[in-house]
Amino acid sequence: MERRDFIKKAGIATAATVAGTAMNAPAIIAKEKTYRWKMVTTWPPNLPVLQTGAEQFAKRVEAASGGRIKIQVFAAGELVPALGVFDAVSSGTAVQVGSGASYYWAGKVPAAQWFSAVPFGFNPQGINAWFYSGGGLKLWEEVYAPFNLVPRPQGNTGVQMGGWFRKKMESISDFKGLKMRIPGLGGKVIAKAGGTVVLLPGGEIFTSLERGVLDATEWVGPLHDLRMGFYKAAKYYYYPGWHEPGTCLEVMFNKKHYDSLPKDLQVILDAVAMETNLWSLCQFEAGNGAALEELITKHNVNLVRFPTDLLDELRKMAEETMEEEAAKDAMSKKVHEAFKKFKKQIGMWGAVSENAYYDVIADKYSLKGRE
Ligand code: CA
Repeated sequence: MERRDFIKKAGIATAATVAGTAMNAPAIIAKEKTYRWKMVTTWPPNLPVLQTGAEQFAKRVEAASGGRIKIQVFAAGELVPALGVFDAVSSGTAVQVGSGASYYWAGKVPAAQWFSAVPFGFNPQGINAWFYSGGGLKLWEEVYAPFNLVPRPQGNTGVQMGGWFRKKMESISDFKGLKMRIPGLGGKVIAKAGGTVVLLPGGEIFTSLERGVLDATEWVGPLHDLRMGFYKAAKYYYYPGWHEPGTCLEVMFNKKHYDSLPKDLQVILDAVAMETNLWSLCQFEAGNGAALEELITKHNVNLVRFPTDLLDELRKMAEETMEEEAAKDAMSKKVHEAFKKFKKQIGMWGAVSENAYYDVIADKYSLKGRE
């Protein structure tokens, strides 16, 4: 039922009830269908912000819809494996909703990579501006439509850290032969720099780093890295996370199920996704500072900035990598061109607003003596 019709009928019903007839509003509400959906995620159980964010999304949707949509959430492996989320939601037979990050699906949908993280690409502010005000979400919908999926941004990690290294990184040549766990496009750039990219599930990274099977690893940011205990296995904690400068997390709906909802419930799903997108970024922003402080003061971590020359070299290689990726298929090319155009469009404003302002207010003194 359309919301307008509902209000109209409910209004008539209320008037009728007041008039003392047998017809009443609760009878109409009782006829509203309850949707019982299942959501699968790519996150381990209880992973803060990511899995807990997916669970919060489900609870808020239920509350906002007055219980008309009830979503049961399953962490990775509980119903389908982490990397089975895309296909499960796409088929829509057993699950209607999924949560993850679009770069996990690069093997199936190369163009999906641009909607999660691009090396030297958008920060959270930039990627959100692209999605909500620059046509990015429309493009994402176009990319997912052939798979019967409707995507929405549902979270953002903020700018990540560059990673944990067992040795100091002085120049780009230090990547030659370096064994690093770094997935996605960032990994392709490291491979170009001569590194050996190792892909490992989260649970195996610490031991590999400790035993020297890995020379380096990236993960997320201080809040999550502290939990993983990497500081016990690698001495140097590098910044900035050039490879994931504002990774967007996604919620996706099976298109047939999404389209079958009354308009007001679609609006609720969209609005709560947007709310969770903001909430998760705030969780990271609020938690990362305290975690970094703890890593430095309690665990004596060496916080180091990548040398500017090294970053410049990585940036050149990242640009080449993105052109190569874009050349693989027509949709990737289309998304890449739109991405570059919007980046150029907001770049100058970023330089005279955020960048210039940060240069003035960043508490550089608090970094002194810690690098
Ligand atoms: Ca990462």
